[in-house]
Amino acid sequence: MIEIINVSKQYRVDGVGIPAITNINLRIEEGEVFGIIGASGAGKSTLIRTLNLLERPDGGEIRVDGKDITRFSSKELQNYRRKAGMIFQHFNLIKAKTVAENVRYPLKLTGEYSEAEMDRRVAELLDLVELAEQRDKYPAQLSGGQKQRVGIARALANHPRLLLCDEATSALDPQTTQSILRLLRDINRRFGLTIVLITHEMDVIRAVCDRVAVLDKGVVIEHGLVTEVLLHPRHPVTRAMVRESHHEDGTDLVGHLGLPGPLLRLTFLGEATYQPVLERISRSLDVSFNILEGVIGRIKDTPYGQLTVQVIGTDPDVARVEEAFAHQSIHCEVLAR
Ligand code: ADP
Repeated sequence: MIEIINVSKQYRVDGVGIPAITNINLRIEEGEVFGIIGASGAGKSTLIRTLNLLERPDGGEIRVDGKDITRFSSKELQNYRRKAGMIFQHFNLIKAKTVAENVRYPLKLTGEYSEAEMDRRVAELLDLVELAEQRDKYPAQLSGGQKQRVGIARALANHPRLLLCDEATSALDPQTTQSILRLLRDINRRFGLTIVLITHEMDVIRAVCDRVAVLDKGVVIEHGLVTEVLLHPRHPVTRAMVRESHHEDGTDLVGHLGLPGPLLRLTFLGEATYQPVLERISRSLDVSFNILEGVIGRIKDTPYGQLTVQVIGTDPDVARVEEAFAHQSIHCEVLAR
């Protein structure tokens, strides 16, 4: 478990302090996939790099299993870093080494393995990332997705408990992004590895993360379960990111149409997504629903739907409709009565 306590970092440029992150407090649980999202310059990269002290915070503590890593001796830090693998947006592979040699490198650095042990581990890792056939190729001969797979194999070499992903899919096309995200999900499940990733894309958060923190101008503006933050964003910056990820242009369709109420926003999560709830309530209360807007999709493994509906009936009683949705475990927000 990682506790980030009051962590701040400023960069000094020409003697002037530029705050990158300010008083960050977050807790990352063992075995979860934790996402940090924000626009460019929000402080994501600085924050993730404090978790292995590639950036040293000016203040605050980073406790890993109760120990503050900012107080580690250089030997302790070296051991800790071995258990905290990292992958990068631009892969950072050694160009003059083959795929197998790149993956072998962190094993060699420990000085703890025999040649045969390293051979075995490299073969195992290349199988895991499905690159066994590319083992003797050089990075320049690989596609972006293959390069990132090498990066992942290398990061996993020493059996880390933590994997830090610095915009790991930002340089990849959408299809390759999905395959890398599937691999990360698989690794998280199979090895119970804790993953912390930073991204500027809500789709990445939606695909793999359990919890998320939203960073804006160096501060955490909201955090929580991805299902909660995505479906009920509180901060305007988060709302704008969610809207954008749904390819909405920001026009208030409902306001724009000037429709009379009542208007409801319904959120379906998990099992409820598969139930004909609208139909059921429509029959039992003798009302109709006019669907005005909607999205359906998945957050990691959880199906969800969110609809904006107008309630139509001779005398629609909103309180009764609300109650009926609550009874079916559907979150119902009244936008207009
Ligand atoms: P993000 O990863 O969200 O794009 P960064 O952590 O890279 O954000 O940057 C946060 C802020 O710190 C930005 O204002 C950026 O310009 C500044 N910054 C980042 N790295 C440096 C650096 N090495 N020197 C000076 N300023 C920096």
